Amino acid sequence: MAKDEHDERQIRCRRLGHVVYFSYCRAPGRETPCPKIADCWFEKFDVAEFLRTHYTDDEINEILEPPKPKMATLVELIQQAQERAKRQEKEGGAGTAEGKGGRGK
Ligand code: SF4
Repeated sequence: MAKDEHDERQIRCRRLGHVVYFSYCRAPGRETPCPKIADCWFEKFDVAEFLRTHYTDDEINEILEPPKPKMATLVELIQQAQERAKRQEKEGGAGTAEGKGGRGK
């Protein structure tokens, strides 16, 4: 089965609100398919077989993993920034001392 074998199939996308081709669902502006690909297409053809044929188990798990809520991502970014700041403090703060007065005139 070629990867583009189902590309001409069409379905109404519940996210976009209009008809899309399978070609879009399997590569929606990036290499990996839309995370909803199995939910949307299972009634039209054996999309599970399509995924098994063209992707590894790890890739399939990654594709079908639900996206993290934006709030969780934001919390993670804040935690990473806090950890980075702590690390810089422990390393002696040399960078911050150099930074003082560097911007002022
Ligand atoms: S797989 Fe994604 S892009 Fe394709 S119809 Fe479903 S929600 Fe829309």
